[in-house]
Amino acid sequence: MAPKTAEQTALFATMVARKQGWALNPDADFTQSLVEGLTTNWNRYGYFLCPCRDSDGSAEADADVVCPCAPSWKDVEERGHCYCALYLAPGFAAAGKEPQSIPDRRHQIPRRKA
Ligand code: SF4
Repeated sequence: MAPKTAEQTALFATMVARKQGWALNPDADFTQSLVEGLTTNWNRYGYFLCPCRDSDGSAEADADVVCPCAPSWKDVEERGHCYCALYLAPGFAAAGKEPQSIPDRRHQIPRRKA
């Protein structure tokens, strides 16, 4: 798997947000730190393991937390943002709301196609 740069990962995150109709977190420093975490995980594991979670040891075991993770749709819809707060619901972002710490629904929601 070819290594990725933070710029490539930022483009990936932008494309995910566009495809899903989400907004990226407007806090540029925070978003950059998550992009760097995703980049590190890609270059370590070969897939975009969520930067806010630990690997369960294999691509198969981590399939539900490859970005955009399985819980992200429900979290964005119900809480206004994903677990990491990289992606925000457009209305949440437009209202200038601050993401809060939310419970991790890992293992509770089956993987779906991005
Ligand atoms: S919580 Fe999910 S959608 Fe958000 S950065 Fe982590 S893997 Fe991606």
